[in-house]
Amino acid sequence: MDIKTFETLIRTENTARRFFVKLCWKKYRRFCSRCRSYEIYRIAGKRFRCKRCKFTFHDFTGRWINRVQISCRQWLWIIKLFELELSARKISQQVALSYPTVLKAVNAIRMAIVAYSVDSAELLGGEIELDEAYFGGRRKGKRGRGAANKVPVFGILERDGIVRVEVVKDVSAQTLLDLTIKTVRRGSILYTDKFRSYDALMCCGYRHLKIDHHKRFSSGKVYINGLEGFWSYAKERLIKHHGVSKEKFPFYLKEMEFRYNNRNDTIFYLVFS
Ligand SMILES: [Zn+2]
Repeated sequence: MDIKTFETLIRTENTARRFFVKLCWKKYRRFCSRCRSYEIYRIAGKRFRCKRCKFTFHDFTGRWINRVQISCRQWLWIIKLFELELSARKISQQVALSYPTVLKAVNAIRMAIVAYSVDSAELLGGEIELDEAYFGGRRKGKRGRGAANKVPVFGILERDGIVRVEVVKDVSAQTLLDLTIKTVRRGSILYTDKFRSYDALMCCGYRHLKIDHHKRFSSGKVYINGLEGFWSYAKERLIKHHGVSKEKFPFYLKEMEFRYNNRNDTIFYLVFS
């Protein structure tokens, strides 16, 4: 969101609230959040009741915004500062809210991002790069494939398009193949390195071209520079969080995917409906 829009929205609690209400209800058409009936009526305290099932709710019942009890203006500020890549600690100093409250809010934002990327997932096609990377763990010891304490991540990048990344349980041929089939249209051209797990791709309706790292500069379009660019983009940003737990890591990873795919736009607020 650009600063000008932000300034207009942040002016009063009412303008901020109206913004979120509009995101939650297309054309302000409210319906019962339990039975989805449109036959509802207004009762006291900005609440509504369903004629059919008698359920009482307000504008943000069951929404991500309801996970933390703060004002709409505070939510707007947190989203803006999160968009600008401030850590939860720094955001809490800026908005004068406790660190646990802000952490809960930014984690809700991350969850909204995951939900958004699941909802908006489309098959990728054309020229596709595949690669795996390893995140986290101690720096000492084995590195790269099979390194201890590290989380394997599989990446699929559509050239001139978007990237999809997923935490995987292993980097076996079966795992990587399943994800590729789920994500990439048949008939696409796949570029990978020489890792053996990729050998089965040929049999699944793809054109598969392998990089020869010894000759990488002479191999024309056969490279995975796009994905390598994403790995360093993500790693550089994750360092700031000083070690993310294994449970939380998939959410941070999806945040990186979202940031990368929308790095030229300011559509951050889109995910929060
Ligand atoms: Zn109802």
